[in-house]
Amino acid sequence: MSTTATRPAPTTTADEVSALDAWLSATDVMRDGAAPEVRAAFLRDAVAHHVAHNPAYARYADGLDPATIDVDTLDRIPLLPSGVFKRAADLVRTGDEPVVQTTSSGTQGTVSRVPRDDATLMRFFASVTAATHELLDVEHAETVVHNVGPRVDESQHLWISYVMSGVSVLHETDFYVRDGAVETERLVAALAADDPSVPSLVVGPPPLLWDLAHALRSHPLPAHPRRFAVTIGGWKGRQGQAVARDALHDALVPSLGLHGVGAVRDAFNMVELNTIALECAHHAKHCPPWLYVSARDPRTLAPVEPGESGLLAYCDPTPTSFPGFVLSEDFGWVDRDVACPCGVTGDVLRIERRVNRLESRGCAMKI
Ligand SMILES: [Zn+2]
Repeated sequence: MSTTATRPAPTTTADEVSALDAWLSATDVMRDGAAPEVRAAFLRDAVAHHVAHNPAYARYADGLDPATIDVDTLDRIPLLPSGVFKRAADLVRTGDEPVVQTTSSGTQGTVSRVPRDDATLMRFFASVTAATHELLDVEHAETVVHNVGPRVDESQHLWISYVMSGVSVLHETDFYVRDGAVETERLVAALAADDPSVPSLVVGPPPLLWDLAHALRSHPLPAHPRRFAVTIGGWKGRQGQAVARDALHDALVPSLGLHGVGAVRDAFNMVELNTIALECAHHAKHCPPWLYVSARDPRTLAPVEPGESGLLAYCDPTPTSFPGFVLSEDFGWVDRDVACPCGVTGDVLRIERRVNRLESRGCAMKI
């Protein structure tokens, strides 16, 4: 981009956009944290952007003046129930930049469609970069990634493929799912050939990493002090076989030659969320400082008391092509300003469980 004397001064919006991008890619953004006022200011600007460029969201916000959003009023940001992304995907589109429709997995009628433009995708990848760099402490240039998933171009814009690829963007990566099947032999051979002095990430959904652990049970891999296993997503079609995290940790550590349970990490994301929350070595899911998560009473949507469980609501200033203010279908907690032994201070997210059908009937999240 060239700058000349005749070029008009950037609008306030463009200034704010670049300020947010600079923050997302700042060194040690997770560790430095930020004043809550900084997060509130970016969220206020994001609300203003979506109210100005998304008529349906503006109607939904019902006369809310974005200028009234500050550090004390974040809970007034109008939240889109995640079901809207299934039923009325047209209504969530902000602006007119070209987008890809990223999708959740699911059967017809239950698939969420989230429009992402380039700026939104780049910011998502910036969130992954910040988390992997600071919480896994791996330098991008030298890391090898074994992605137990398909390439994005083979996955019909399935969002989990973007999420798993996000971890791979700047790394040497190989993909081990072709035509829906894991190439276990090729994966095991590649893992066995890893250089123990080079960081190695094994990334995949929990059921596929569980299968890998079992495939290696009788011939575990040699110890690798710099290998991590990162789980992304849930058990989906294999929910009936889901195992507790401790059992998964106990299976993965010996089979992959990991240095301990701290080397197994879960990364939380959902298709409507443009940021990941990655676990540190202490299995705390750290919210990056730009993301405001709160737990809400499912009937009134009022914030619950600190430490109580509620429906999780996410306010994410990073997406430009859809409002990143989403009421999820997950129950959980947010612990505020936790000084974690890993060195990060900030909000820690704990996901408890999915809302059940009965609860969803009595729930205020329907619009
Ligand atoms: Zn931590």
